[in-house]
Amino acid sequence: GGGGVPGRVRVTVRLRPHNAEEMEADSDYAECVELQPELKRLKLRKNNWDTETYEFDEVLTEFASQKRVYEVVAKPVVESILEGYNGTIMAYGQTGTGKTYTLGRLGEADPAARGIMVRAMEDILAEVSWETDSVCVSYLQLYMETIQDLLDPSNDNISIVEDPKTGDVSLPGATLVEIREQNNFIELLRLGAAHRFAANTKLNTESSRSHAILMVQVKRLMDERSSPYITENGGSSFLSKNIKPPIVRKGKLLVIDLAGSERIDKSGSEGHALEEAKSISLSLSALGKCINALAENSAHVPVRDSKLTRLLKDSFGGTARTSLVVTIGPSPRHRGETKSTITFGQRAM
Ligand code: ADP
Ligand code: MG
Repeated sequence: GGGGVPGRVRVTVRLRPHNAEEMEADSDYAECVELQPELKRLKLRKNNWDTETYEFDEVLTEFASQKRVYEVVAKPVVESILEGYNGTIMAYGQTGTGKTYTLGRLGEADPAARGIMVRAMEDILAEVSWETDSVCVSYLQLYMETIQDLLDPSNDNISIVEDPKTGDVSLPGATLVEIREQNNFIELLRLGAAHRFAANTKLNTESSRSHAILMVQVKRLMDERSSPYITENGGSSFLSKNIKPPIVRKGKLLVIDLAGSERIDKSGSEGHALEEAKSISLSLSALGKCINALAENSAHVPVRDSKLTRLLKDSFGGTARTSLVVTIGPSPRHRGETKSTITFGQRAM
């Protein structure tokens, strides 16, 4: 389908380079995936003589820079947030394929390594004006259908509220921090990651078993003359009568580092691990149904089935822009997982 069109999901596939272990172990095998980026195609080898071909909006090889990934996956969404629309950027894939690398790298030692969250905030901060605009951030973890505040660990059961009139989704209980400088944002991401690690240690789980959600709310006061869109009226008694009042534009960006999509052997697990596995597969399959409905232009997008999709309700479909990056590894040993990740991505096409 057409990339960058509001209402449908734009899907990019990103291949992680071989790691040292895979270089050793896979040296005898034929390559499992072959990318044809100029054709936006991916070929998955079935066996020695047969391959399956898939098409995506974009295909990023193991040589794609973080900057290029940002431009392809995130930039159009960030630009529309600044214009007052909602949007979502998500990474889906097996644990170890590069979701956090793609979205969450801080790049302090090496600025070229900065991931999507950091680059998005840089672009947002460069565009807004201090006198009139605000940029606020919340950082959350969704684990076993419970939303935890990564900026305040005592706040571990946040509810989702939907405005019955506007359909706007909000999290009134979540900590909201105003960001003015990139350094404060980096500090906040670091704090959130530390809280996440501590919370997961206490829950005896790993970060790959939960979704991490960054929410950025941008509110801007715009001069109506520069704007073809009207969102909300801002009162403005200080302006003379013949000048139109400025309008407020609100955009909300969700950046979601999804739980690992790998199949957990349900027969082999029990108790807590089984409940965890069920919860992840519930939310990822609910997400799959929603992106499928968006791709088919269906009037009904089934958002009610999970907290993940309820949270996303006003940030995909309609005028919102959604970008999904599916991350895969090169190893033939994980061919089954790679295929299921690719299949998930194809549901949005
Ligand atoms: P996930 O979040 O999907 O579990 P990670 O982002 O933690 O995966 O990546 C797993 C490992 O692979 C990390 O050591 C990471 O640095 C490395 N890695 C992931 N993607 C890339 C990439 N595009 N280039 C180089 N290393 C990568
Ligand atoms: Mg990760």
